[in-house]
Amino acid sequence: MLTLTDLTTTGGDGNGKTVDGHRLILDCVARIAEESGLKAYLVGGPVRDRLLGVVAADLDITVVGDAMMVAERLAAEIQGRLTVHQRFGTATVVAGSLAIDLVTARREAYPSPGALPIVEPGGIADDLARRDFTINAMAMPLPAVSDQLVDPHDGSADLTAGLIRVLHDGSFRDDPTRILRAVRYAARFGFAIERETADLMGNALSARTLSALSGDRLRHELERTFHERDPVAPLQLADNHEILSAIHPALTARHLPAATREPVAPLAWLAALVWPLDAEEGEALSARLNAPSDWARVIADTARIRRSSPALGDASKPSEVCSLLDGMAPAALRGALIMGRGPAQERISSYLSHWWSVAPRLRGHDLLALGVPAGPEMGATLRELRRARLDGETHSVQDEQELARQWVQAPDKTAN
Ligand code: ATP
Repeated sequence: MLTLTDLTTTGGDGNGKTVDGHRLILDCVARIAEESGLKAYLVGGPVRDRLLGVVAADLDITVVGDAMMVAERLAAEIQGRLTVHQRFGTATVVAGSLAIDLVTARREAYPSPGALPIVEPGGIADDLARRDFTINAMAMPLPAVSDQLVDPHDGSADLTAGLIRVLHDGSFRDDPTRILRAVRYAARFGFAIERETADLMGNALSARTLSALSGDRLRHELERTFHERDPVAPLQLADNHEILSAIHPALTARHLPAATREPVAPLAWLAALVWPLDAEEGEALSARLNAPSDWARVIADTARIRRSSPALGDASKPSEVCSLLDGMAPAALRGALIMGRGPAQERISSYLSHWWSVAPRLRGHDLLALGVPAGPEMGATLRELRRARLDGETHSVQDEQELARQWVQAPDKTAN
């Protein structure tokens, strides 16, 4: 079995610097807790990741007692930046690129499905019992005086067997975000969802448990999925378990490619996911997710881009492509590219790599000097100059001056 000594002295991925940093911080937390007569534990994701041989990105610490006090002293000692989340009784200390989350060990009760829990102080067993899956419900006591693992739910056995298992039958009902979390972890680690857990998940979905979730919480879990190294795997798993259709009937992952060649921004994954939705379905999804403006824009623009696809594929001039794509959210355009390479995608690719940034060589003040009046005509002339440059009709400042002079003499040409 893996021990805290391993955790603090070896780097599973050879990332020695990170591991040294983790060790120093864990030593510091242990000392502060000890001096205050408190017990501190490394918990959850970092314990799981270390047992898997991965160096965790962040450190999660549970303190039996006042975690705020430990957080304040830790921040002072390591000169980290302290943020206190009063509402949740948690604190984060950021030191360089490392975030250390500290929470007071607590017990939770769920007043109604999908609602936020009522929280009160508890012991480490209470704190582990409120967690989502057995593999996330392990703790390592600090300091590293002995090689212990607090594992009341047999998480290490599930880690070895490759299983995602909830701690109790009411888990998905208490917190339906765990439905999305289950597929995310299963896909990330290549684990199976344990049979009873899968049944419980199916029952929770049949009982429409997801509809009890607020848009914000649902969106937050989706966002975490988009941040995964390979979001297609959890999205397809979510589709197989009919989770996507429970969010919105038109939502599916069947159109997504099996693998992508290059890293993709999270919001481009949103665009890829909503590709099959029309404008109306997109609006309903935005409402369900309480989408902030950037999400709503990506969803709406994706429907527009899909609707423009035939025209894009037929476009023979760069300016035609620009008139279809100018103003679209870049993430929506990138999302369209995830779906493969058709004629429309070829045009989008050229637009993103070059055409969007093409501007006329002449500026407003150049045109004023040539006699173009300020006002709508100026705008129209600049647009025409851009169009001409995009379509290869002008190649120099002189060409543009020549065109502008022609238009000053025959302004009706710029009427569009
Ligand atoms: P990641 O999952 O991205 O690797 P992590 O395991 O640290 O990181 P977080 O979502 O940051 O996961 O949550 C930290 C810990 O809090 C988890 O390991 C889990 O024990 C617990 N947790 C998080 N969300 C829930 C939830 N919805 N229900 C119960 N426990 C949760």
